[in-house]
Amino acid sequence: MTEKPEGATHLQNEVPDEENIEPEFDAPLRASRDTEVMLAATVKGVPNPTDKQVWSPNFTKGWPRGAPNGVTIHTEEGWHDPSVSWLCNRESWASAHYCVRRDGHIVQLVRQDDRAWHARDSGMYYFGIEHEGGSGLGEVPILWKTPKGADDLRGDDEMLIQSAKLVAFLCTKWNIRIQHDFDTPPVRNSTSHIAGHDQMSGNDHRDPGPEFPWKAYMRKVHQFANGG
Ligand SMILES: [Zn+2]
Repeated sequence: MTEKPEGATHLQNEVPDEENIEPEFDAPLRASRDTEVMLAATVKGVPNPTDKQVWSPNFTKGWPRGAPNGVTIHTEEGWHDPSVSWLCNRESWASAHYCVRRDGHIVQLVRQDDRAWHARDSGMYYFGIEHEGGSGLGEVPILWKTPKGADDLRGDDEMLIQSAKLVAFLCTKWNIRIQHDFDTPPVRNSTSHIAGHDQMSGNDHRDPGPEFPWKAYMRKVHQFANGG
């Protein structure tokens, strides 16, 4: 298969330039792969909500500074199954660490110790999380349920609730600051640690878009990180 399957329209050719890839950081295995057992790892009370692991060949080993600096939030602009399949296809030159389905089911594609190809060069420092559906800026509909100005995620917004749990887990485990720049419109090259793809420097993607309920989402991430 060399063409995108129908229903996968977002990522391709997100691999960083070879010359911009920093030398591998020879860090001790602080989070060894052996410990990355599905559902088994609980860090400071934040459980890993990952449901399934399907490994993609599209990744770069290790992190340039030994650890990731943040998490990038994406929308697939497509459907879950074809997007997962596309991001596991070598021809896409793209991947993400996780894909969250509309019902909250989470598939991991790239190990936490390695870099996924989801936001070109700036993605070298960030975990990448994809969400099923669109940003509202393209043809694919938005599949989260919380309106953008809400204070809290809707109780039935399983996709964003599980996603927030995943971000809380990653930030706690890797000591990533739980912080987001709320600039509207989004600023490229912002200092956000929990960043939209639309905030990543050297990128032109606009997901997750202006309808994403950042306030409610970040509140939920904080809540999970604090054991709530
Ligand atoms: Zn994106």
